[in-house]
Amino acid sequence: SLSNATMHTYQVGPVATLMELELIKQWNALVGFEEGDGVMVSGGSQANLIGMMLARQKAVPNVKEQGLRGKTLVAYISDQAHYSALKAVNVLGIGSENLIAVDSDQEGRILPEALRQAIEDSLSKGHTPFFIGLTAGTTVTGAFDPVAPCAQIAREFDLWLHIDGAWGAPVLFSDSHKHLLADCELADSVAWDAHKLMNVPITAAVILVKQAGLLNQACSGGGSDYLFHHDENADFNLGQRSIQCGRRADALKVWMSWKAI
Ligand SMILES: *Cc1c(COP(=O)(O)O)cnc(C)c1O
Repeated sequence: SLSNATMHTYQVGPVATLMELELIKQWNALVGFEEGDGVMVSGGSQANLIGMMLARQKAVPNVKEQGLRGKTLVAYISDQAHYSALKAVNVLGIGSENLIAVDSDQEGRILPEALRQAIEDSLSKGHTPFFIGLTAGTTVTGAFDPVAPCAQIAREFDLWLHIDGAWGAPVLFSDSHKHLLADCELADSVAWDAHKLMNVPITAAVILVKQAGLLNQACSGGGSDYLFHHDENADFNLGQRSIQCGRRADALKVWMSWKAI
């Protein structure tokens, strides 16, 4: 806050950029994303938006240049999922009618068989399923969706698998609770808030992605004539993998807390 640092290029925020990159490495190690990358975002809502944006890119590779071109993409979450999924389908041009809330069990966990059925229903209508969003710690009751059976379905239908761990992902720090997120390395992306269960002052959140480079593909574009120069530190320009330009140095707060505890 005092230095008012921003995070679009390495040149304007070198120390905070290196902190953010190291944190993302550590976060990815907890999740089990060995070759991953990521970027800090304004909250779990934006992390979920970016997860869905990466899924859209996988389903429609030229979407950045050409838009959806009349395709009806369909996303699946549980009926307990956070409302940010509704914001994401709005922003990404998917449409709320193409966001399917799949039934959950009595504990609030998505039912994998109902998920499969919903995907098959969409296919029979000629629609294009593209995204499964699981929740690790539902907002109201703290339910953790089962990852392995849903990852199997995602593989079978070649869909992007995202985990919204906005509040529950920090169980990965705990030997006694990390079983709740078992098999999370099977996902393609994970949303994680440090400003909830980790008690870091708001806002501090990250989107983690299993395959490095996809964020850059989806989010980069423009600004190269005045901001993103091809200098020796170009690989460290986090603005190329973000949908924000100016961005707070939230990494500092997480870095300090993580070191301290
Ligand atoms: C709080 C929450 C979000 C939204 O996170 P923000 O950081 O408030 O944007 C998303 N998903 C779940 C499950 C949440 O509990």
